[in-house]
Amino acid sequence: MPPETYVRLQCPNCSKQWTGRPGTLPEANDDFDCPDCGSTKSLAEFARTEHDLETMKQFS
Ligand SMILES: [Zn+2]
Repeated sequence: MPPETYVRLQCPNCSKQWTGRPGTLPEANDDFDCPDCGSTKSLAEFARTEHDLETMKQFS
């Protein structure tokens, strides 16, 4: 995996933005807790753009 590969994430609830390494994230369909507000949604809903969603799925 190239070192610059990352997924841009944004919480749909509180709008917190951060980035994650694809290999360290759960599967796109798995539940994920926002580290800021604690709301639980599938990880796919945290992807900031379609491109980020594709990157997320590619490495899950
Ligand atoms: Zn949040």
